[in-house]
Amino acid sequence: MKKYVYSFINGKAEGSATMNKLLGGKGANLAEMTNLSIPVPPGFTISTDVCTYYMKHNKFPKGLKKQVEEAIQKLEKYMNKQFGGSNNPLLFSVRSGARQSMPGMMETVLNIGLTNKTTSALIQQTNNPKFAYDSLRRLIMMYADVVIEKSNYKKNKPTGIRLDLEKILGQVKQQYNCKNDSDLTQEALIEICDLFNQTIKQKFNIEFPNNALTQLWGAIEAVFKSWNGKRAIEYRNIENIPHTWGTAVNIQCMVFGNMGKNSATGVAFTRNPSTGENKFFGEWLPNAQGEDVVAGIRTPQPILNNSKKDLKYQMPLVYKELYKVQNKLEKHYKEMQDLEFTIENQKLWILQTRKGKRNGIATIKIALDMYQEKLQSQSEIINKIEPEHINEILLPTINETTIKNLQPIGMGLPAGPGCATGQVVFSPEEAEIQYNKGKKIILIREETSPEDVQGMFVSNAILTSRGGMTSHAALVARGWGKCCIVGCNELIIDNNKNQAIINKQIIKTGDWITLDGSKGLIYKDQLPLIKPALKKNKVFNHLLNILQKKRVLLVRTNADQPKDAQTALDMGAAGIGLCRTEHMFFDKNRIKIMRQVILAPNTKKRRESIMQLLPHQKTDFYKLLKTMDSKPVTIRLLDPPLHEFLPTQKKQIKELALELSISIQKLESIIDNLHELNPMLGHRGCRLGITFPEITEMQTRAICEAAIKLLHKGFKPQPEIMIPLVGSIGEFINQKKIIKKTINNIKTEHKIRHLNIKIGTMIELPRACFIADQIAQHADFISFGTNDLTQTTFGFSRDDIGSFLPNYLNQNILDNDPFQHLDEAGVGELIKIAIKRAQSTNQKIKIGVCGEHGGDPKSIRFLATVGVDYVSCSPYRVPIASLTLSKMMQ
Ligand code: ADP
Ligand code: MG
Ligand code: MG
Repeated sequence: MKKYVYSFINGKAEGSATMNKLLGGKGANLAEMTNLSIPVPPGFTISTDVCTYYMKHNKFPKGLKKQVEEAIQKLEKYMNKQFGGSNNPLLFSVRSGARQSMPGMMETVLNIGLTNKTTSALIQQTNNPKFAYDSLRRLIMMYADVVIEKSNYKKNKPTGIRLDLEKILGQVKQQYNCKNDSDLTQEALIEICDLFNQTIKQKFNIEFPNNALTQLWGAIEAVFKSWNGKRAIEYRNIENIPHTWGTAVNIQCMVFGNMGKNSATGVAFTRNPSTGENKFFGEWLPNAQGEDVVAGIRTPQPILNNSKKDLKYQMPLVYKELYKVQNKLEKHYKEMQDLEFTIENQKLWILQTRKGKRNGIATIKIALDMYQEKLQSQSEIINKIEPEHINEILLPTINETTIKNLQPIGMGLPAGPGCATGQVVFSPEEAEIQYNKGKKIILIREETSPEDVQGMFVSNAILTSRGGMTSHAALVARGWGKCCIVGCNELIIDNNKNQAIINKQIIKTGDWITLDGSKGLIYKDQLPLIKPALKKNKVFNHLLNILQKKRVLLVRTNADQPKDAQTALDMGAAGIGLCRTEHMFFDKNRIKIMRQVILAPNTKKRRESIMQLLPHQKTDFYKLLKTMDSKPVTIRLLDPPLHEFLPTQKKQIKELALELSISIQKLESIIDNLHELNPMLGHRGCRLGITFPEITEMQTRAICEAAIKLLHKGFKPQPEIMIPLVGSIGEFINQKKIIKKTINNIKTEHKIRHLNIKIGTMIELPRACFIADQIAQHADFISFGTNDLTQTTFGFSRDDIGSFLPNYLNQNILDNDPFQHLDEAGVGELIKIAIKRAQSTNQKIKIGVCGEHGGDPKSIRFLATVGVDYVSCSPYRVPIASLTLSKMMQ
């Protein structure tokens, strides 16, 4: 007979942490903790095999019933209690638990086994009727929701019973003047149970089952069914969890946090999941059960914050034990843990442990700390850090310098980091609608529940009025690295009017607000956001240090401004792989000169105009080369179609005509003449330098003179000149000649013997790939401009792709956007050919990549295997590229 049931009792478990495929994460860890002699209420796990069997055959496998019965008997014997018994009743929780944690997505039912008979027995035994009825009302509500309603209706049927019952609860609370659930008297609780039972009868025409075994099997089946619940499926789609895995079911003896003042329930993290700080962190609620802390029903109290409300102060002995347990667990798993615990009359019970979800900032800090604490090796931590985590450190903050008197309108708990701005909506459905219209959304809710995930996912940020740092909203947002503020008590939401009031300020649907999720502050309006100051971030710099030493190839940056170059340097760039010079010409004064160049009637005039640009260019290059001192800076000669520099509006044309003292008609006809039908394939790239050699000459001169000036000052500039869009060897030789001649002239003028400037080309045309062997005979380096190479290989215009790409993706004609992820089969193949041919004639040739793909992890992984020496990407992608390359070394 196949084994379906695995017990964990008193220090001995049949399972272990390694068996999470079979037992689910929760079951495997309950077993592991049992074996570690951590106080875990005993129980057993029904394996995920049963779930997959159940999904296929819609019934349980043979032999399961018997194994469950035996397991129950074992528990009864050990606990000296009876399930459904009239003396000493044993109660169970029935808990879902998949291989990978899906917080709150599936169902759990507590207090299973409470019937008329056992409730009376429980009262007799504990002398605490209030506790017994509190447990019963909880069971009825969970059972009605999970077993009677959810598992008996088709997937999409809207839920209603929980809301109905919650309403009753609220009404009775009001009637008895109770603020919190825990204030309810025995009398009130009995009334609630009665009303619950009546409502169930009315709604479903069945009785709440007054039999322990019926309850148990109902709950087991419901948990299995919850695997295919709507929200569970949605969550798996977002998180890429296979639908075939199935869940396990854990049946566990109940321990009670709702027995009175000496009892409690809570959630804890071994380290702070928002900041990563190595400090025990968590929240608890006295006299509460189950999800009370997570659901945000009452605002929970901190476990440790040096106040009289913290657990350390209120239950010092229990706290001490809990502290020991969390320490033991973290050391054992070598990972930050997220625990659930319950205290029954001053006795601690651990109900769950799992790898704690944390945001990117905390991930990085914890990884580096654990490396220093020797809990994890360097390769382990590099494996754990993902590009998204680094992205988060680069998250925007509010640009406070641009706003005077920045005053928040409210404050909550900082649950998810970074700042975000968006337009307010009050429901997850509305969030999706507005998001699909292209709006930036901030979702405001009293609290979130698993049904809301889709709407939360599309929102820029989430703000809730209730709940703590371990509430559903906080947990989910943190997992996604999304800005989130929870427990903003001063926020009063009026769902009928679709508005909220916070400290007398009204926020309506569609209003802009800005959240600072790192500090928990809420602001009115759309505030300007900026990127953070990384230089001061010690943790991040430590990481960069490690990455820089471990990456398989170098990472340069695409930058043409000293400020960007500095940012990239701070993040570990090994040089500039692409400096686009055209951006330097769009400055107000310079574009005038540029226009004169383009419109010059003859070579002499053109030359004169161009030379006016020389001092400007020289300063540009001087600053850039100085910033990058001793690191290579690849400067690309002027590349874009000339008409980009010409005015298009009537007013500007008129002004320009006046300046140049020609007639408007004349100017218009010149502009007309320059107009190209297909500028991407027109008069651009090296074609410019060939028709107007003065441009190449001027730019070369500017580069050389800037370098010489720096040399005199003791710097070590490393400029490299890159000729764009070469397709035939003649083009390259033509430009190289002009550059060489200019360099030689300058050397003589400045009486300098050594001025080593590398000359190379950008490979952006398929033809260039095929003649790379010829090019390499004359070039010091080649650099793949993968944006243009993708355009010219596919024949797709990047600027026009929007009109057909979505169709291509929908119909699976392409797997993804080739401008985002490098097309390995086509463009990648051309790159391989080019590298092979180039190396066949020039073994020393340097090979780089300077398209957007240089910052895309998937493309980088490919590029690193074909033999390039460096990739180049925008400054903020540098650490992500470095991380990708470090991971490849593992
Ligand atoms: P989830 O996977 O949604 O976190 P759990 O199965 O962990 O669901 O159950 C939710 C909560 O129910 C737990 O955090 C715990 O507080 C409570 N709970 C579960 N089992 C027991 C038990 N045996 N005794 C007391 N409380 C329990
Ligand atoms: Mg839960
Ligand atoms: Mg749990």
